[in-house]
Amino acid sequence: MKNIFLITLFTVSATFSQASIPIAKFQSSPKLVVVLVIDQFRADYLTRFHKKFVKPGSQGQVGGFQFLMSEGAYYPFAEYDVLQSMTCPGHAMIMTGSHPVMMGIPLNDWYDRKTQKMHYCAEDEQFGISPRSLKSTTVGDELKNAGYKSKVIGIALKDRSAVMLAGHRADLALWMDYKDFVWRTSDYYTKTLPAWVLILNKKLQEDAKTEKIWNVNGQGTGLSENNDTGFEKKFKINSKQGMALTYGVQTSFEAATAALKSEKLGLGSAADILAISLSTHDMLGHAFGANSRELEELTLFEDQQLSKFLTTLRKHMGSLKDVVIVLTADHGVAPTVDYAQRAKIESGKLDYLDLYKKVYTRLNEKFGQPKKGEWISASKSFHFYLNQNAIADKKLKQADVEQEFKLALKDLPGVFAVATSTEIQNGKLPPGELGQQLQRQYIPEISGDIILIPRPFFMEKDENLVTHMTGFSYDRVVPLVIYGNKIKAGVYAEKAQVIDLAPTLSFILGVLPPATSSGRVLKEIF
Ligand SMILES: [Zn+2]
Repeated sequence: MKNIFLITLFTVSATFSQASIPIAKFQSSPKLVVVLVIDQFRADYLTRFHKKFVKPGSQGQVGGFQFLMSEGAYYPFAEYDVLQSMTCPGHAMIMTGSHPVMMGIPLNDWYDRKTQKMHYCAEDEQFGISPRSLKSTTVGDELKNAGYKSKVIGIALKDRSAVMLAGHRADLALWMDYKDFVWRTSDYYTKTLPAWVLILNKKLQEDAKTEKIWNVNGQGTGLSENNDTGFEKKFKINSKQGMALTYGVQTSFEAATAALKSEKLGLGSAADILAISLSTHDMLGHAFGANSRELEELTLFEDQQLSKFLTTLRKHMGSLKDVVIVLTADHGVAPTVDYAQRAKIESGKLDYLDLYKKVYTRLNEKFGQPKKGEWISASKSFHFYLNQNAIADKKLKQADVEQEFKLALKDLPGVFAVATSTEIQNGKLPPGELGQQLQRQYIPEISGDIILIPRPFFMEKDENLVTHMTGFSYDRVVPLVIYGNKIKAGVYAEKAQVIDLAPTLSFILGVLPPATSSGRVLKEIF
């Protein structure tokens, strides 16, 4: 009996000692947080290609993905758990720790019913590009709100990625201007680019004069198509297509390295944040697909570039003991329709022209043709916005038009469910997890009157070979790694949401979580 009592006492005290961390550990904040996001980096890329990653410590290098996976707290399955995974909301979720319903960015683009124009998530009437549509603070904003003289910089080829990671109070957000082929910011951040950016831009202009070659020979891992022969791609870098190949990754890391050194990040009195997003991965992924050899080889190239960057970072800081490094993604991607079909998985693309035709025929039969325009004012990302004038002219009820619209789409192959604004606002949600996923991103002023939810492996037909825009695992699940001196290395099977990252970083930095943060502090990693 006494023994049982002792064992119980021991277990209880062991649990207690795990539930808290010593104040000294809590109060020693890192000097630099590097957040690396890879755009469209699905959860399985780290595991599929790990055998070919740079070995940590080889040739005096820190290592890339393998280093982070073995030395950091690695969650192989971190989740987004929203209905539609895409770049702008993904990046905003990473640094605000909150779902779109709270932080205001559910989509990349939406229809603004007031101006009757499409609105881009990072668009700003005054400055061109800014985080104005983001209705929350980021980790970087809260560092600054706490009074620290921290520097916060965001870098990505895509402006929306740079801006959403950087936040409202950032010192600089940099993105690629494809027209002039230079790194660009907006007056929202600064009117004059720092000298180090001008040097980068000069190099870009020089590089633009020569043709580049991406050459891969021999066998791959055997897990991708075109395993044996490799490929050769000649490209001009001063184009979107050029930036979708290795050069885009290289130039992004060059910009991050220049920021690190020139801004002396991590060497000041307070913690700094350097956030980088590799947009190239998404651009290549859309064009070639998740099972392509190109995707495999780009991932290996990213790994080598990451190792080089981390080695430079170690030299810059003297060691990595005061650095926290994060690796994650904004979303994943579906297999291509062709790949899925060959694998006997039902898959397909939903063509907007077909959808429009079905809807117009049904609504015209039922309610007559609108006096002006058509029944749909705008549509994007499976959100359909109704012609409000037509509804008013004909003195119809919005709910009745929505129901007819829904019936027109309901039985189409590839359609899982159709949600209408009236139903959603009355609490009638689509089945299963879809309902909760929808609630996390539904904003009446922004979301469509009708939202189409595709079945797994179905996607919208656009200019891409393949895309991401669902809450299914291939789009929703991404890796999350947090490396740091005081963080327990290991693979974590605990459920982690991407929105847990921001409050965890806030905890590490000793500042408030972002205003709308609802994630948990990942306490098991301390
Ligand atoms: Zn994408």
